Amino acid sequence: MDEPAGIYVHVPFCRARCAYCDFAVVVGKDGLADAWLDGVLRELERRADGVAGPVTTVHLGGGTPSRLAPRLVADLLAGIDRRVGIAAGAEIALEANPEDVTRERLAGWRAAGVTRLVVGVQSTAERGIRALGRRAPAGEGPRALRLARAAGFRSLGADLVIGWAGQEDRELDADLDLVIGEGADHVSCYMLEVDGDAPLARRIRRGERPGPDPDRAADLYWRAADRLEAAGLPAYEISNFARPGHESRHNLRYWTDAPYLGLGPAAASYLAGERWTNPRGLADWLAMLRGAAPAPPPEPYDPDRRVGEALVFGLRRIAGVDLARLAARHGADPVERRRPVLAGAAREGLLVLSGNDARLTRRGRLVADEVFVDLL
Ligand code: SF4
Repeated sequence: MDEPAGIYVHVPFCRARCAYCDFAVVVGKDGLADAWLDGVLRELERRADGVAGPVTTVHLGGGTPSRLAPRLVADLLAGIDRRVGIAAGAEIALEANPEDVTRERLAGWRAAGVTRLVVGVQSTAERGIRALGRRAPAGEGPRALRLARAAGFRSLGADLVIGWAGQEDRELDADLDLVIGEGADHVSCYMLEVDGDAPLARRIRRGERPGPDPDRAADLYWRAADRLEAAGLPAYEISNFARPGHESRHNLRYWTDAPYLGLGPAAASYLAGERWTNPRGLADWLAMLRGAAPAPPPEPYDPDRRVGEALVFGLRRIAGVDLARLAARHGADPVERRRPVLAGAAREGLLVLSGNDARLTRRGRLVADEVFVDLL
């Protein structure tokens, strides 16, 4: 227990389920927020002895963390600080949906200790909002981002979805004009997924809705990547762009094999080499905390699997992976076993492999999944 951990808190509440989303959410149950908070603090109490504190990152993700009134965010952060400590200068991030953003809430979250606000803009086009099955009108994203900028968080982030069917260059440009113009410090550009269990993905697979065209989605990705880089936000991960110093320190944990405790339904943890994932449903997770259902057992440690997964996550970073560090953590054999795959990808121009440094090339970024399959 030496490397300071981070804490992820899953806030499952949503106003409605968006068509493209298959995250673990509950709709129309905001009234359970107090019971949820009580559960999170109880779960922290049980797990706290395994957490190296003070923690340096706390990330409220979801679901929709902005459904939480500032009072609940303040109580949550105070509880974490009391039990494991929150380091001075820690990154404390909250994901917000535009329709929840008001001046009062922003001030309240900031006073509670939030340092980084991420606004889920997704699209500024009415067609995009409809294609993604979002509820808030297209104007809400820009309004929320402007208010959030004025509220003075240390870092301001914006999420966009690219590649929805029929998306035109001018529609992406309008999204980029907004996030660049409002001075976002961090922008995530997520490609629309069609292989999950989201309602939209199922409709696309059934042929009821047009799916994204991969070539078109790639063009849109590079249009976004090049503009963001020119605006001073280079990619540091395939889907993530940031001004230097504003990278998500919490998400970097996932890409660098670093420890974190996950609290709340569906939250995953990785502490002292052990990993486990909480029950996905809010009711099942609360039952676990009451002792009415068993806690998830930790996954048995399998160095081969860990190396495969660490490579897949790590190669998503533009800086790539240090193979020597991975070998020191999990043993040399599972790393060496994968060198031929890495060397093959390097010969195809998808990867640069130089000694112990492996990183995707620009061409490799969008066909990364082909490389990843063989690494697992
Ligand atoms: S996209 Fe966000 S707001 Fe929409 S259902 Fe998923 S978690 Fe909730």
